[in-house]
Amino acid sequence: RMRRHSSQLMKWNGTGSTAHFQEIVLERCYNYTQLVQPALRDRDCQKIREAFRNAFISKDPCSATEEDYHPLMKLVNQTVPCDKTVFWSKTKKLAHQYTKVQREMFTLEDTLLGYIADDLSWCGDAGSHEMNYQSCPHWKKDCSNNFVSVFWGLLSKRFAANACGVVQVVLNGSISNAFDGKSTFGRVEVHNLNPMKVHTLQAWVIHDLGKFPSDSCSGSSINDLSWIMKQRNIKFTCQDNYSSVKFLQCVKKPEDSSCR
Ligand code: NAD
Repeated sequence: RMRRHSSQLMKWNGTGSTAHFQEIVLERCYNYTQLVQPALRDRDCQKIREAFRNAFISKDPCSATEEDYHPLMKLVNQTVPCDKTVFWSKTKKLAHQYTKVQREMFTLEDTLLGYIADDLSWCGDAGSHEMNYQSCPHWKKDCSNNFVSVFWGLLSKRFAANACGVVQVVLNGSISNAFDGKSTFGRVEVHNLNPMKVHTLQAWVIHDLGKFPSDSCSGSSINDLSWIMKQRNIKFTCQDNYSSVKFLQCVKKPEDSSCR
């Protein structure tokens, strides 16, 4: 009995569904629609929670498809104003600080579905109406078509495809490849920008305070990104340590030599 129980616990290699997932989804939905973006105050959070749950419950957690999430996407249907989209890669915290002080700027996690799902984990099981709180498929060790990865892939794709005007990306200059073609930004978002709508991609390469810069606008990874943008007919600019982003780091560590 113990062995059967423990093999059930260890079914997958990823962290299990977040405790109180349903309640968190509902609470975040109300917080966002009633307080953060009142323009979305008429969205039905109970229906959103239900559509989210229905996307994956009672299904094989390694057979997720984009279609599973279509009813949820249809319910939310949010657009970001032109010139306000901010992408990020390996700079999540900093990008979020940036959009928090920069009025009306949006990372994916500043849109309703990104806000609801950020840092959560979820999966069900084909033979059950319950969520699996013990383990969920790990995207590398178990399967890439798990419900969390497919969700972020689809959301990222739509977020990029809907962007317009001048768009920005915050990249990490303290890792060897600030632009990584295998990241969601490099693999999904870059290729889904619509050249008919997006005028320019502005990249900000930011170095961590106190860390040695490993990459910059003149490095080869940014050159790759620049080349992709050229092929895609979208203007590309890049700036190292853009002050509006850099200042956010300096607020936390004003004594750092690069903040003087
Ligand atoms: P990144 O490498 O910093 O990854 C961001 C997070 O997503 C990390 O926690 C990473 O482990 C995870 N992740 C990446 N690919 C995944 C996958 N296939 N399955 C499960 N988790 C995965 O940066 P990135 O990959 O370029 O992604 C950031 C960009 O894509 C942002 O512009 C954002 O719009 C979107 N995105 C956001 C999230 C999120 O958790 N909020 C996740 C994926 C993508």
